[in-house]
Amino acid sequence: MAVLSEVKMQSNPPTLITDGAGVEALCQSCGVCCSTFRISFYWGETTAAEGGFVPVELTEQMNLYRSCMKGSSQSKPRCIALAGNLGESVTCTVYENRPSPCREYDVFDAQGELNPRCNQARAKHGFEPLNVRFVPKTTA
Ligand code: SF4
Ligand code: SF4
Repeated sequence: MAVLSEVKMQSNPPTLITDGAGVEALCQSCGVCCSTFRISFYWGETTAAEGGFVPVELTEQMNLYRSCMKGSSQSKPRCIALAGNLGESVTCTVYENRPSPCREYDVFDAQGELNPRCNQARAKHGFEPLNVRFVPKTTA
């Protein structure tokens, strides 16, 4: 098994992402996480609260304490703030004011491995798994 996976890695090397711009481009051609998970967060992040920033009209109240992005709690989730076509070209229309779960989602871990939830989400939409690694450029 080890030999087989080694051969597979050699014949299909991962695409290397080296900086934030590469991550941005990767996500702008994917977008499935915004159409898979319920995006919920403390209601105080919405503009209904003093100091809140997520446009409240794009959210729904789940209970006393939690809100979620509209569209993300339906049976086929799609965040209302997502524009474009999945797997082609997407954009978050509230990027500067997106809620904490979107800010805190790590696309890559400290070892440069892709978050497994990305390919789990892609599989749900019938997309091929991404074969990418984050290897930052070394500065001289
Ligand atoms: S699923 Fe992963 S790769 Fe795709 S848009 Fe979300 S964070 Fe980016
Ligand atoms: S707020 Fe933006 S980043 Fe967060 S799920 Fe919606 S479209 Fe995606």
